[in-house]
Amino acid sequence: MELTRKLAILADAAKYDASCASSGTTKRNSRASGGIGSTTGTGICHSYTPDGRCVSLLKILLTNYCIYDCLYCINRISSDVPRARFTVDEVVQLTLDFYRRNYIEGLFLSSGIIRNADYTMEQVIAVARTLRQEHAFRGYIHLKTIPEAAPALIEEAGRWADRISINIELPTAAALAQLAPEKNLARTRRAMAGIQERIDGAKAARRESRKAPAFAPAGQSTQMIVGATDTSDAAILEQASSLYSEHKLRRVYYSAFSPIPDASSKLPAIAPPLVREHRLYQADWLVRFYEFRVEELTTAEAPNLDLSIDPKLAWALRNRHLFPIDLNKAPRHLLLRIPGIGTKSVDRILKVRRWHKLRLEDLPRLHLSLTRCCPSSSPPITTPPRWRSIAISSRGRSCRLTASWICFRRRRPL
Ligand code: SF4
Repeated sequence: MELTRKLAILADAAKYDASCASSGTTKRNSRASGGIGSTTGTGICHSYTPDGRCVSLLKILLTNYCIYDCLYCINRISSDVPRARFTVDEVVQLTLDFYRRNYIEGLFLSSGIIRNADYTMEQVIAVARTLRQEHAFRGYIHLKTIPEAAPALIEEAGRWADRISINIELPTAAALAQLAPEKNLARTRRAMAGIQERIDGAKAARRESRKAPAFAPAGQSTQMIVGATDTSDAAILEQASSLYSEHKLRRVYYSAFSPIPDASSKLPAIAPPLVREHRLYQADWLVRFYEFRVEELTTAEAPNLDLSIDPKLAWALRNRHLFPIDLNKAPRHLLLRIPGIGTKSVDRILKVRRWHKLRLEDLPRLHLSLTRCCPSSSPPITTPPRWRSIAISSRGRSCRLTASWICFRRRRPL
């Protein structure tokens, strides 16, 4: 088969994998040290997949043959799709050629499972080893690893790659049993724990000596498919939150399920709305950077996120009794909860208010959006009379707005 035909098949097969951002790795540049490639710099050509994802890496599968039969996957053994397989040398040459043409900033390599997990991992590792050792490639490499592979192979993968990842695929053991019975959530979590131990060990060794070998310096990530089963957003976010806290994952990617040809009747016929993926990313961000707990973002009555408004605004509307929040006195964790105010703005507010009291006129200077944190009318949901009157009663120097998430002095009892 021609190389271009293989590339068309194997790049297309890889588009379902969302976990390929290169952020967070160490800076390497071949200008100083010789070789080829760098993990940072200008001139990187970003391309977009049809569903809008930004791809700046050569994102391919080594092969789309697979001995597993995960029902949601187009590459499963029972799928009737054209198959192709690259050799190790072909992937190496493609990476170097694309890099020289400035199409990519690195390589994202995954694979279907051929023969067994160990054989597949050996092939994937051979690509990374050849790029690093024979061609002194210093660009970004992300390798997808297989939880069933021998620990020594995962160890070697981490030595050559910037980031390694294992896809958890579905958020609960029950969902996996339903759609991917060959996969096992506990085994995947054990493999992630082993990777995290090695990352921590390598970091500690490098603190002692800069010559100690690195292990996946950009950490590990994973991907969850959303909407292939009826698992709620609450369960998805619970799983993600526990991955962040227990295995220190850098990112959990959410990939909305795409219907595939000849799909099993166990799968939904239509894809979930893409906005669900977006809301999950927003909620994930709130958990990681805004000190929200998962149980605050959904409720027992509504375990899925509201698709019409962002999760922070939804939380604020459920907790109106906490508003308006005094920008001059509120602690950091409350400032972080004001709709329209981000972490950088909160840090600016905390810095500035040590020296002088904040006023409404200061907001533009702090790059705060007046329309977002002080909407001139109440949010598009009926506000209770008490909340409305609190805002209207804030007059004079404090706040002249008809409704606001914020105020500039302590609220007086009505
Ligand atoms: S193991 Fe991976 S490639 Fe193979 S069928 Fe399952 S999800 Fe697809």
